[in-house]
Amino acid sequence: MRAVQYLEVGEPPRVVDVDAPEPGPGQILLKVTAAGVCHSDLAVMGWPADAFPYPLPLTLGHEGAGRVEAVGADVGSVAVGDSVVVYGPWGCGTCRACSLGMENYCPRAAELGIRPPGLGRPGALAEYLLVDSERHVVPIGDLDPVRTVPLTDAGLTPYHAIKRSLPRLHAGGTAVVIGAGGLGHVGIQLLRAVSATTVVALDVREESRELALRSGAHHALPSDEGAVRTVRELTGGTGATAVFDFVGAQATVDLAAQMVGMDADITVVGIAGGVLPVSFGSPPYGTRVGTTYWGTRSELIELVELARQGAVGVHVERYGLEEGPEIYERMEAGRIQGRAVVVP
Ligand code: NAD
Ligand code: ZN
Ligand code: ZN
Repeated sequence: MRAVQYLEVGEPPRVVDVDAPEPGPGQILLKVTAAGVCHSDLAVMGWPADAFPYPLPLTLGHEGAGRVEAVGADVGSVAVGDSVVVYGPWGCGTCRACSLGMENYCPRAAELGIRPPGLGRPGALAEYLLVDSERHVVPIGDLDPVRTVPLTDAGLTPYHAIKRSLPRLHAGGTAVVIGAGGLGHVGIQLLRAVSATTVVALDVREESRELALRSGAHHALPSDEGAVRTVRELTGGTGATAVFDFVGAQATVDLAAQMVGMDADITVVGIAGGVLPVSFGSPPYGTRVGTTYWGTRSELIELVELARQGAVGVHVERYGLEEGPEIYERMEAGRIQGRAVVVP
């Protein structure tokens, strides 16, 4: 089968022929119907050889959807022909975090060598994808896999961050979304779906600010010092009640710290390496600063339901598998709107 692989540190990914996998006991083989492309892969492909944590070559793609092609022994809840999306942050399945569906925070995954598809295990940018357990697929019925697959990361990651901040997302409050790309534009829709908060989007790109407004943001501003003043004005001087930073660069975590009021949440989701100093009184009293990683199993199930209700509609750009490497070039150049999805 064809697959988009990262073969050598520092080299661009290539489309190559590899053997199609076969499902062992408990496993599920998917014929991939859609695979989303995340900005995190650019960060992964920027890591140096001496600190690269995954075996190479690595089939990329950690947003996967597919039709069940075959199941291994002991798979009972999924049948051949089912249309599913893949829950990516695999955990051990039995620890306390995993038993709560929070496999994204499984403390045993690393020691057991359990890694997500596309981030250590063969990923979804291929014709077939092997899933390790029926726990890790969510049926989507007749939903369009192309528009649903980004929910597994571009939807799940902001949804998880938003759910942790629900007490700060009240009517009269103001949530700021920094970076209205793949994750951010879905995050804006989810904020509007689950809360009555005012949503302000910040982005350096005009096209992304337009997408933010189409996604339901009340305001969209260039991501600069002027935005700090505008957020202060919009909130009557009190500041934002929540900031979701989907960039995570030094410039954006600095903006987040300047925009929040007291008793607010700053959630850094982007992995661009910005550092936010925390000391008494800065950020303002009572403000919580945190990071999040992906989301939980139950949250993905809820998201699929939200999609079924029409509460979230991902803006997708479609590509073929052979165009995989080009997607990363376009993403690096800031030329993707919403989410790029490969249809093999
Ligand atoms: P993307 O490329 O689709 O979107 C990024 C957006 O940010 C673009 O609209 C871009 O114009 C905008 N942007 C860039 N610099 C900016 C700045 N200084 N100020 C404001 N906006 C700016 O990326 P994505 O796939 O949505 O990923 C977003 C980030 O989230 C990446 O860092 C990615 O690695 C990270 N991520 C984290 C998790 C997690 O679990 N924590 C999961 C998925 C992705
Ligand atoms: Zn991702
Ligand atoms: Zn676990």
